[in-house]
Amino acid sequence: MRNHRLRIVLAVFASALASVGVLAYGLGSPQATLLGPALVRDGDPAEVMLTFDDGPSVPYTGEILDILRAKGVKATFFLCGASAERYPELVRRIRDEGHEIGNHTWSHPWLYLASRESMASEIDRTQDVLERITGTRPVWFRPPFGVRGFPLWDILRERGMKMMLWSDRGHDGDLDAAGISKITLAQLHPGAIVLLHDGFEARASEFVDRSATVSALPGIIDGVRRAGYRLAPAGRAASSSAPLLAAEGAAGSTRKPSSSRP
Ligand SMILES: [Zn+2]
Repeated sequence: MRNHRLRIVLAVFASALASVGVLAYGLGSPQATLLGPALVRDGDPAEVMLTFDDGPSVPYTGEILDILRAKGVKATFFLCGASAERYPELVRRIRDEGHEIGNHTWSHPWLYLASRESMASEIDRTQDVLERITGTRPVWFRPPFGVRGFPLWDILRERGMKMMLWSDRGHDGDLDAAGISKITLAQLHPGAIVLLHDGFEARASEFVDRSATVSALPGIIDGVRRAGYRLAPAGRAASSSAPLLAAEGAAGSTRKPSSSRP
């Protein structure tokens, strides 16, 4: 009798643990679209997309824009509203130089346990400031840390917005320039969306050091081109007609999705 009860308790415990595991994967792993659609790889297999999160910041966003301009590359910047408000001239420069702008929340919170109201407010405040500065409300959203919460898909759908994650992570919070370049190029694949950073969460510039990303960038661009890919801003094709890529396998990467800090 006692054994039987123990088995039931264990079975319940195991199934709860499995549910938590599936949930954590679905809400937190960049490749997972279990709970809703997200772009993890762009539609054109001849292209690779560079994306920069958490900016703008000084001097890194400007330095990255200089490199992109010198090399004739267009990219996508997922901006935090608080940082955009600090540096509207950098936001305008991103727009004027032909890059795509996306929404990365106002203050870079974990959205996992956030209320619907606070998620919506993080997104709407950022849409408002970006529209005020650029004249346009972004279509693309990337959740901080790649972490989603349940109401997020509804909130985005209501606003006609779409979610973009990534399939090639530069680990530019952890590595030096050579390491960032090496790990980014090692993960290259058709349609790769590369995750790099020009800021740090939504923090003021004095708390940001993206010098390693800046140093790595020319080598990454050269390496992508040597591998035969074109560089394009992420999501431009997908925002018109291409369907959002679904789920596992879409990224073509066998790399284990990591708990990232985008
Ligand atoms: Zn981020």
